[in-house]
Amino acid sequence: MWIECAIIGGGPAGLNAALVLGRSRRNVILFDHNKPRNAVTHQSHGFITRDGIQPSEFRRLAHQDIAKYPSVTIKPDKVTEVAKSTAGFQLTTGNGVVYYARTIILAAGLKEMLPSVPNIQDFYGKSLFSCPYCDGWELRDKPLVLISEGTSAFHGAKIVYNWSRNVLVCTNGSNKLNADQIAQLGRKGIQVNAHRIKSLVGTNGQLTAIIFDNHTKADCIGGFVHPQWDHAAAFGEALGCSTNESGGFVTDDFGRTSVMGVYAAGDAAIIAPAQLVIAAGEGSKAAIGVNTDLTSQDFDR
Ligand SMILES: Cc1cc2nc3c(=O)[nH]c(=O)nc-3n(C[C@H](O)[C@H](O)[C@H](O)COP(=O)(O)OP(=O)(O)OC[C@H]3O[C@@H](n4cnc5c(N)ncnc54)[C@H](O)[C@@H]3O)c2cc1C
Repeated sequence: MWIECAIIGGGPAGLNAALVLGRSRRNVILFDHNKPRNAVTHQSHGFITRDGIQPSEFRRLAHQDIAKYPSVTIKPDKVTEVAKSTAGFQLTTGNGVVYYARTIILAAGLKEMLPSVPNIQDFYGKSLFSCPYCDGWELRDKPLVLISEGTSAFHGAKIVYNWSRNVLVCTNGSNKLNADQIAQLGRKGIQVNAHRIKSLVGTNGQLTAIIFDNHTKADCIGGFVHPQWDHAAAFGEALGCSTNESGGFVTDDFGRTSVMGVYAAGDAAIIAPAQLVIAAGEGSKAAIGVNTDLTSQDFDR
């Protein structure tokens, strides 16, 4: 069966795309294997009317909205393969079912790789976060750590300083800061510790201290970490979609990538700033792009 649009990914980007396409009476399947980037968190912030919502509740409400539109189906399936076919795209899912779609929206988001710090997973999403705009308010005025192994440590420290004047930067043995930057941070009272982190201390995911490989200890109540990331799904690159210098898929104002019939939305396109509300807006844009292009193709037939 041909569907008009296959959406790969059911985070805010894919969900909002499904909503707008459903309201446009388009025949859509949204594939989602429910492993979003923010799965580790208990609360999401900064989405107007949804500030503080649990990620699972956000999804439940989104599915409830989409259920009103009968031309949209949500399949809890992982897409494993996407190939160009004569009139669009052939998608294969984890359970071996093949689908044909005139257009696809890439909304699979990103996967993160945390710095190699023992037991960091126990704290990530509970007291260590990736984005101060998402979780800085809850950590305001507390003694905070920024774990950052790359050059972004300098900019990251300056940003975190908006939420707390008590910030320690830990480069975990791979200091990429130059002497000037360390001095600038120092003038604001931000110390840089270049030792490798031996362990994180705390209970129930609430950080209380960091132990370094030289046996020193720093007390802190939480903070931020700069993970590395990669696309959660490799289909865009395989189809030949161009990427920008940040690694996101290049899109126009309607979510169109460089490959005809392929649209991208959310973190997969924007990379940063990574925000639910931005991803949802991106999904809406891509949906309007899909509907516009399908209308142009069909109207004069
Ligand atoms: C720890 C943490 C906390 C955050 N807190 C906030 C916050 O408070 N406020 C905020 O605005 N933003 C927050 N963010 C950022 C926010 O989570 C992202 O910007 C947003 O989720 C991006 O939406 P998306 O739809 O692009 O991707 P995602 O939400 O990551 O969704 C992608 C979906 O695609 C699915 N998928 C991937 N590959 C496939 C495949 N092959 N087949 C089928 N499905 C697939 C995944 O399972 C997933 O469900 C946070 C991020 C992190 C990491």
